[in-house]
This record gives sequence, structure tokens and C-alpha cells, in this order.
Amino acid sequence: MSETCTLRFDKSFTQQESIPEEGISAAVDVMRSGRLHRYNTVGDEPSETDLLEREFAEYLGVNFALACASGGYALQIALRSAGVSSGDHVFCNAYTLAPVPGAIHSVGAIPVFIETTDAYTIDCEHLEREASKGKARYLLLSHMRGHLVDMDQLMSVCQAHDVLVIEDCAHTMGASWNGRKSGTFGHVSCFSCQTYKHVNAGEGGLLVSNDPALMARAIVCSGSYMLFGKHQAAPDIAAFEEVKYTTPNISGRMDNLRAAVLRPQLRQLERQCVRWNSLYHALENGLRGEQGIYLPCRPEREAFVGSSLQFSLPLLDSARIEEFVLLCAARGVELKWFGRDEPQGYTSRIDSWRYLADLPELPNTRRVLAHMLDLRLPLTFDEHDCKVLATIIKDVYKSIC
Ligand SMILES: *Cc1c(COP(=O)(O)O)cnc(C)c1O
Repeated sequence: MSETCTLRFDKSFTQQESIPEEGISAAVDVMRSGRLHRYNTVGDEPSETDLLEREFAEYLGVNFALACASGGYALQIALRSAGVSSGDHVFCNAYTLAPVPGAIHSVGAIPVFIETTDAYTIDCEHLEREASKGKARYLLLSHMRGHLVDMDQLMSVCQAHDVLVIEDCAHTMGASWNGRKSGTFGHVSCFSCQTYKHVNAGEGGLLVSNDPALMARAIVCSGSYMLFGKHQAAPDIAAFEEVKYTTPNISGRMDNLRAAVLRPQLRQLERQCVRWNSLYHALENGLRGEQGIYLPCRPEREAFVGSSLQFSLPLLDSARIEEFVLLCAARGVELKWFGRDEPQGYTSRIDSWRYLADLPELPNTRRVLAHMLDLRLPLTFDEHDCKVLATIIKDVYKSIC
């Protein structure tokens, strides 16, 4: 038996780094103060949540930011504040995470799923065909697993057909397209601060926009009561004149404890993105060129964050892929497979969302997901770990071919 046959990976794919000491001590200070609610401030002093919003808006170079309870919640109020209402149709990626169709459904709207390319992104040609039918005026765009579609092409399709773009940047905090940060293309954009994204507060979401009327609605919607004047990354008070009477409070604020944990992480974000990319490239280099293992070529204009890696095994059928996943798992390599008929863990796909009527048949998405595998690269891994991962993956692949 060769040595590689017994090679096992023993680190956990769900182990994130600890919170920076600075964040821990800021969180302890918040707890000592007893002032955890974002509007529970003394005098004019901004809360941790106010400061996080201001710093995030500065980081992205946008006018307004709002912190909320989760990424999925941010998507819901982004849709609502952008004017989506009951019965409206909303385009979204067919390859996405469950909170995306869930957010559309929560405002009474109907998702219209768009096909997936072999590069794991939304299919702009399919989008164009659907948009030209004039059925939907909104697109909730997920940069799924950090893959950015050609944003120049996408924005021009949407502009031509008068489709308003809402960006879901759950996997692209820190990424950019052609030098422009992800989250600055959409009319409104949302980020997640959940443990497995690029900053970790356990739960949390951030919503950004440059539209003052939209932002006023989002802030009141998030549960500001009549305290919206305290926000530091918000439009002028005049923007709230009407809005405060016409917008429901759908409470979903962020608290000061989470904001305190996040602020130092935001300062480290760029450095962390560099680290993720070294892990990604180490694993990619280990896998690239291997017969039967397909890695998409990422466009030069895409500056992505490699916090996870996807590859496809186009030559294997579902039974073999199932076997491949099991053999990898037996050697400590945890892969996610969106091709499984029964949804598992975080992965589900269109046919699992049976609360929706008329689920479409999307053959390209089905084919892409049937062959694609996904693995997380937490920052508790190092480059050597990535070499081990590549060796095991190649080894298992060879053993079943
Ligand atoms: C995680 C995620 C969300 C929502 O995040 P939560 O903070 O868990 O609600 C939305 N879209 C995508 C693509 C995600 O991966």
C-alpha cells in the first residue's frame, strides 16, 4: 500500500478562527455597560452598531449602511424597500442558497429562476431572454460561492430591460469586479455576518445603498421605531418624513454585542482575503491539470475571495460521485454536493423548495450541480493542508476510475 492511500486529513472544515482579542474586549465592554440594544446610548454618543455601519459604508465607498439580524433578513428588507410587493416576479440564480428564494417568498413575490453556466455563475443569455419578456423588474443576484459573473455584461442586460439589481454578497465581501467592489453594483446590496462568511458574528447582516428613500424605508423597516435620527450612515432626516408613517416595523436589528465583535474583523478583512486566496491557490494548483477534474478558469477582471473552492467531475455519474464523496469523507475531506436528490446540511436546490408553485426544469443547472463539489477553506487551514487535500482528492478520484 502506498503512503498516500493512508493519508488522512484531520482538521475540521467548520472550525473558524477565534474572534480577534480586540473584538472580545469590546464585546466584554458592551456587556459590562448593559447597553446591548443599539438605541440604548448615552447622549449623542454613537453605539457600536452605528459605528459599524459608518465603517462599513466607508469601506465600500457607499453613502448608507444598515446592520441587521441576518443576511437573509437583509435580503428581505432590501426587496421590500426596493418596492417589491405581493405577486411581483423576481429573477434570481437557480444555483443559490435557500434564504434567497425564501426572502423573495417572504414578501409575497415569486422567484423566476435563471440558469447556471459551467463557470457556476448566472447565465446572462438566459437572463436576457427572460427579461425581454418583461415579466420581472427585479433581479436578486447571488455571487454564489464567490463566483462573480461578468458584471459589465450583467449590468448592461439589466439596464437594457429596466431590471433593478439587488446584490446578494454573502460570499463576496472583499471581492471586486474590474476594480469595483462587489456590493457597489446593485441598487441595494446585502452581506451576511454569519459564522461561515467573511466576518463572523454568529449571525448578522449588512445592507447598503446610495438611494436615500430606499434606505429610509429599510431603516424604519428594520425596527428603528422613531429613533432613526441616531443612525450615522443614514440619509438626512428629511428622507424619513413620509416613510416613518408608511413603513411597517419588521423588527430585525443588529445589537451592539455583534457589532463590537465585527468592527475589528472589518479592519482585518483585506488581510484575511489575501490569506483565503493563498489557500485557494494552493489547493487549485494541487488539482489543476488532473485528468477528469474540472476547475473553472476565473476571469482576470474577477478579484474573488477564495474562502471555498468548487470543482466538477464531469465524467462521473451520480452513483460514482456519491461514492467519491463518501470515500473523501472517510479520509477526512468534507465535500458538499448539490447534486444529491435529498437535500443535506446547507445544500438544497430548486426541487427542494416545494412551497413554490410551478418549479421549472432547468437542465443546465441540474447538470452543473450534478457534477459540482464544494469545499470550505477556513482560515484555520494552512497551505500544507491544501496540498494534503489535493492529494487525497486526486487519489480518491483515481481509485474509483
Ligand atoms: C449565507 C447566505 C445568505 C444569508 O445568510 P444568513 O446570514 O445565513 O441569513 C444569503 N445568500 C447566500 C448565497 C448565502 O450563502
